[in-house]
Amino acid sequence: MKTLLGGKGANLADMSGLGLPVPPGFTITTEACAKYYEVGEKALHALLRDQVTEALRKLEKATGKTFGHGPNPLLVSVRSGAAASMPGMMDTVLNLGLNPKTVEAMIERTGNPRFVWDSYRRFIQMFGNVVMGVEHHEFERELENVKHARGYTLDTELMTEDLQDVVARYMKRVREIKGCAFPTDAMEQLWRGIDAVFGSWNNPRAIKYRALNDIRGLLGTAVNVQTMVFGNSGSNSATGVAFTRDPSTGEHKYFYGEYLINAQGEDVVAGIRTPQQITIRGSREWAKARNITEAVRKVQYPALEEAMPKVFKQLDAIRVKLERHYRDMQDLEFTIEDGKLFILQTRSGKRTAAAAVKIATDLVREKIIDEKTAVLRVEPGQLDQLLHPVFVRSAEAKAKKITVGLPASPGAATGQIVFNAATAELWAREGKKVILCRIETSPEDIGGMNVAAGILTARGGMTSHAAVVARGMGKCCVSGCGELHISYDKKTISCNKLVLKEGDWISLNGSTGLVYEGQIETEDPKLTGPFAMIMALADKYRKLGVRTNADTPRDTAKAVAFGAEGVGLCRTEHMFFEGDRVISFRRMILVAETVKSLRQALAECTDPEERTRLEQELAAPLKQYRQALKELLPLQRKDFISMFKALKGRPCTVRLLDPPLHEFLPHDEAGQAEMAREMDLEVIQIREVVESLHETNPMLGHRGCRLGISYPEVTEMQARAICEAAAAVKGSQPEIMVPLVGNVKELTAQKELIHKVLADVERTRKVKLPIRIGTMIEVPRAAVTADQIAAEADFFSFGTNDLTQMTCAFSRDDAGKFLGEYVARGFYDYDPFQVLDQEGVGRMVEIAMQYGRGVKPNLKVGVCGEHGGDPKTVEFCHKLGFSYVSCSPFRVPIARLAAAQAALRS
Ligand code: PEP
Ligand code: MG
Repeated sequence: MKTLLGGKGANLADMSGLGLPVPPGFTITTEACAKYYEVGEKALHALLRDQVTEALRKLEKATGKTFGHGPNPLLVSVRSGAAASMPGMMDTVLNLGLNPKTVEAMIERTGNPRFVWDSYRRFIQMFGNVVMGVEHHEFERELENVKHARGYTLDTELMTEDLQDVVARYMKRVREIKGCAFPTDAMEQLWRGIDAVFGSWNNPRAIKYRALNDIRGLLGTAVNVQTMVFGNSGSNSATGVAFTRDPSTGEHKYFYGEYLINAQGEDVVAGIRTPQQITIRGSREWAKARNITEAVRKVQYPALEEAMPKVFKQLDAIRVKLERHYRDMQDLEFTIEDGKLFILQTRSGKRTAAAAVKIATDLVREKIIDEKTAVLRVEPGQLDQLLHPVFVRSAEAKAKKITVGLPASPGAATGQIVFNAATAELWAREGKKVILCRIETSPEDIGGMNVAAGILTARGGMTSHAAVVARGMGKCCVSGCGELHISYDKKTISCNKLVLKEGDWISLNGSTGLVYEGQIETEDPKLTGPFAMIMALADKYRKLGVRTNADTPRDTAKAVAFGAEGVGLCRTEHMFFEGDRVISFRRMILVAETVKSLRQALAECTDPEERTRLEQELAAPLKQYRQALKELLPLQRKDFISMFKALKGRPCTVRLLDPPLHEFLPHDEAGQAEMAREMDLEVIQIREVVESLHETNPMLGHRGCRLGISYPEVTEMQARAICEAAAAVKGSQPEIMVPLVGNVKELTAQKELIHKVLADVERTRKVKLPIRIGTMIEVPRAAVTADQIAAEADFFSFGTNDLTQMTCAFSRDDAGKFLGEYVARGFYDYDPFQVLDQEGVGRMVEIAMQYGRGVKPNLKVGVCGEHGGDPKTVEFCHKLGFSYVSCSPFRVPIARLAAAQAALRS
């Protein structure tokens, strides 16, 4: 139903089936939206005319009202609603059907001219903006002018005559700007409203939202035409938004939500007025956080529970009913018209990761959902939010508080102040951490919000746009900081006497709403409670193993804490960058080629005199070479010992040296001079080697096992370090991995060297070492000859970074220049370096799997490219029957959950 009616339409239909008070209406399906884009407005109207007329007639009958005329005029809202929720991204028009005649009739009927004129000016403003394209500020300016002339500060102070004045000014402005009058025919208004909603499916912010949230494959938006009910018809009317559980924390100590008396929905969401709380308990907590006394709270900001106790009770009962029905936390919109409650919409509420895991596990405990459903309820990618640092308590205690706002979306954020989305995006591209500060955010800010470390707004409640979107993104957000004065012109934030400028540092605590001056130190979060429970459930249902890519004992320990079952890739080259060891490593590289060629010459030389000369020439570089390897061996051994200890018996796949050697050499003069001193050589000699090792296409060059073939001593040294470390740490399980194999003979040759070393260590240490030797599959030739390779390998690990590079012929270093366009134009669904290109590279993986397992049915197979932590790739690996995926430590929980979801879905 959702696919066709959109989330809003489907749930409205559901709710009316449940007997809940829903204003009557009808839904134009998402198929019509697809048609709109296929045949255009005119042809669509012709196709829909009879059905819309018929539906309107039914609506008139059900409500006893007439559309666009008569003594009891029917007003409708025209609202968007796709199958996936996209809050605030598409258009809506309220109060549609008003014109001079219906205004008169409504006044006659309600005896409340102020309300009718207020609705009329809202309608012109919304329709004028959304449908006719008149800028929002054009209307705002007219409204401000009238308020200013009368000396008002609040919209609610406007009297009937003032509103009539506003309407006249609006009409005039529309005529001036658009060169035509505002339409008075209700049917024309309706069709244009429908077109606008369909049109908004492809507005830039909706497109961006879908891209950011990976929403794809939908037909379009549905259009919901619904009878208007009025929260702005007086002090016995109200409108609000409520969540059945707290969307920030998942708590459900009380009914969580906000409302405004005498207002329409957009007032609550847009954050123009500061909304009040639904329950007394919530209201007291809210007041306490803002230093508002109980006496003031009761009078100025009463809870709905106090202001309209009967309606509150009814709403509270609906909360329970809806949550039971949908078996999930709901986000609902309601309106109270003259004391009568209506539910305008319900949907599964957007929530932070903390709330997602808490709600899922609570619902299991409350027996509303089962374990499997709980596992499927949490978005794997979202878990990332729970793994990142929070402020160090003592550092936060010492930090200088600026003010407090609403804790709209939890987390800790430190960054430099920027005032608009464009600057945020620009600065973020330069690698800066920014806090986007806005008076209030609007959907246009989405790009800036996405790159910001945190979001701060002066206005707006917990359900304001900023709050809702930030929570969806898992971004730290503090909203509604009433004390802050933000000036876009001066690019300053002021609070009491303090003035901060663009670029100054501030810190936000999204869990308490506190705003601080300067930067605050952060620490790792705790991995217990609901998070631990969801992870335990994930482990219960997943089939796929999850390892980590880690090169240091610290990262290894972190990954183990995140649940890694071993190391799937230890890139040994990373170990050479630490401390002084790079000197030894460079020494080895700088003489390796000379040693190799002199040895070759010696082997071929029969002339005794020439041999003596060659031997003399070889002596010095060989000494350097041996010395370097001798220095490196204990360092490598020590590294492996620490890694194996951190792993406590879990397996560790150690990859032999992989990258092109020139990457390690100093390219600057100072670095070359240093090496010359170290090695007793001339700088020019060093420079010559650096230049000779330079490659034009280094990713296809002298790297991977090709290094071990050219310089066998390096493989021997690494193998020895691994074997000796394994002998030193009882219970360790190393696996030696040969990189970049394309031809089985490369593997055989490297294995032979490793086996010799292994046998030697076993003999001298008197131990039996259970070391497996396997290979990466990352060269297309290896994939298509995987049967031959499997015969020689104890395991395969797919290096999907290189396999993508070589299968697609996209340089890993440079393809970023055009891949964005490739994705935008749909050539690839995703960046193939982030999400495995299943159609192409995936096919290569499948072939290799078939060939490999054809030879060895129990062959252990993993993936260790960046894709190992991507949920879609994890699902692909699950389906192919991989043994494990391996990813960076922070993605380990994501992969565990994605693996469980893949198992539950298949
Ligand atoms: C790979 O190619 O996927 C891989 C893991 O190796 P690297 O990224 O180090 O080349
Ligand atoms: Mg690789």
